[in-house]
Amino acid sequence: MTIENKVERGLFDEVMVPCYNPMEMIPVKGEGARVWDQEGKEYIDFAGGIAVSCLGHCHPAMVNALTEQGNKLWHLSNVMTNEPALRLAKKLTEVSFAEKVFFANSGAEANEAALKLARRYAADQFGPEKSEIIAFKQGFHGRTFFTVTVGGQAAYSDGFGPKPGDVTHLPYNDVDALREHISDRTCAIMMEPLQGEGGIIAPTDEFIQTVRELCDKYNALLIFDEVQTGNGRTGHFYAYQGLGVTPDILSTAKSLGGGFPIGAMLTTTELAQHLKVGTHGSTYGGNPLACAVAEAVVDVVSQPETLAGVAEREALFREGLAKLNDKYQIFAEVRGKGLLLGAALNDEWQGRARDVLVAAGKEGLMVLVAGANVVRFTPSLVITKEEIQEGLSRLDKALATLTK
Ligand SMILES: *Cc1c(COP(=O)(O)O)cnc(C)c1O
Repeated sequence: MTIENKVERGLFDEVMVPCYNPMEMIPVKGEGARVWDQEGKEYIDFAGGIAVSCLGHCHPAMVNALTEQGNKLWHLSNVMTNEPALRLAKKLTEVSFAEKVFFANSGAEANEAALKLARRYAADQFGPEKSEIIAFKQGFHGRTFFTVTVGGQAAYSDGFGPKPGDVTHLPYNDVDALREHISDRTCAIMMEPLQGEGGIIAPTDEFIQTVRELCDKYNALLIFDEVQTGNGRTGHFYAYQGLGVTPDILSTAKSLGGGFPIGAMLTTTELAQHLKVGTHGSTYGGNPLACAVAEAVVDVVSQPETLAGVAEREALFREGLAKLNDKYQIFAEVRGKGLLLGAALNDEWQGRARDVLVAAGKEGLMVLVAGANVVRFTPSLVITKEEIQEGLSRLDKALATLTK
C-alpha cells in the first residue's frame, strides 16, 4: 500500500459515529495469539476480541470452513433452511441441555429472542399479568433497547426515551433480596452465570441454587446469558455445566463464531413451541457462512483436550499474575474461571485499570478492562504456553514502567 493510500486512525474521527474511542494503532494481521499493526509492531493478544477469538486469529479449521463454504453458498434467508445451520444446531443440542436452537447474529439478538420467548411463554401459559423480568445490577446483556434495559447499568440504557417496562434489577448474589422480591408475576430471571462486563463476579453456590429453586417455585423461566462465558471459556462447554444448575433458556454468541458474527438462543422443545411461525425471525440468522465457521469452532472447542487445556492455561495465568503481584503489589485478587479472568486492583490502584491497558499496549500486549478497577484477560482458548509467558513478561515490563 502506498503512503498516500494509508488509512489512519484520524479517519475514524472523520467518518465514524463517535460511540467508540479506539486505540491509535490499527491491527492488520493476526495469527494464533499474535497480532501485527500497520507499522509491523507485534502484539500478544490476551484480549481475544473480548472473549470472541476462542481459537486465536485465523485458525486453520475456521479458515478452511469459511473458504469451503464461501465457494459454495453464502446466503438464502430463512425461506429455506441450509446444511451448515442444521449441522450446527444438531451439535449445539449435543453439547448442551438444549433441544431447540434459534440463530441470530449477535449476543444482544440472542438475548432479545430469549426475552421475547420468556414473555410469550408466560403470556400463553399464565396470562398477561406474568411479565416481570428480574435481572441484576452490573449485569450486561447487549445494546438493543430491550436487552440494554434488562442490563444492570442505567448509564447504558438512560437517555433514549421510554424503556421496555416491567424490568426489576436486584443485587447479584443477594439471596434475601431475591426471595423477598420474586412472585407469581415474575416471568423470568435473566443472569450471567459469571458477570463479565460487570467486573468478573462469580455467583455463590447458594445464590445460583436459590435462583433455580425460586424459578421453579414461581413458574419463572431461568435465562442464562452465556454470551461471554460460553463455548469453552470457563473450561466447560457452557458455564452452567460447572455450576450444577441448568437454565431453561441459554444465549450464546461471542466465541461461538470465533470471530465470525453469530449468536444463538438454546432452549427446550416445550418452550420453543411458543415461538410459532411468524412470531420471531432474522434475515441473516442461520446464515450458511456463519454456521459453517461456528460448526468448525464447536468441533474444536468441544474436544476434551481443548476444554482440559483451558484449566491448564488458567493455572499459568494465575501463577504468572501472582508472581507479578509479589513484585508490584497492585492486585487485590485474581478472580473468574478458566480463561475469563479479572485482576482486581487494590486500594492504592483504584480507577487505574485503563492505565494498565495503555501501558501494556506500549509493550506489545493487548488486555481488556472490566470497569475502572479490573484488568480482564479473555485470550484464545488454545493460546500456547510460550505466548502466555511472552505476554506475561510484557505485562511485567508495563507494570515496571507504571510503578516507577
Ligand atoms: C458481549 C455480551 C453481550 C452482547 O453481545 P453482542 O454480540 O455485542 O450483542 C451480551 N451479554 C453478555 C454477557 C456479553 O458479554
